[in-house]
Amino acid sequence: MAKRVTKGFASKTQKALRDSKKHCAVCGEPIELVKHIFTQKDSNTDTIRFKEKMVGVCNCNRNEIYK
Ligand SMILES: [Zn+2]
Repeated sequence: MAKRVTKGFASKTQKALRDSKKHCAVCGEPIELVKHIFTQKDSNTDTIRFKEKMVGVCNCNRNEIYK
């Protein structure tokens, strides 16, 4: 739905931000999106590549991500 927003844009943005926060069903913590950078060896060229992906971090997997 493409609606032109003029008034109340800030509050709508606030709401969007709040709504995007997901809570883990297991530990109940808000899931934090972090950019996780890891290395991956390319077996064809024998070089190490840096890859990054966005991962959701909560109490359940924090120890695995931040080691
Ligand atoms: Zn969790």
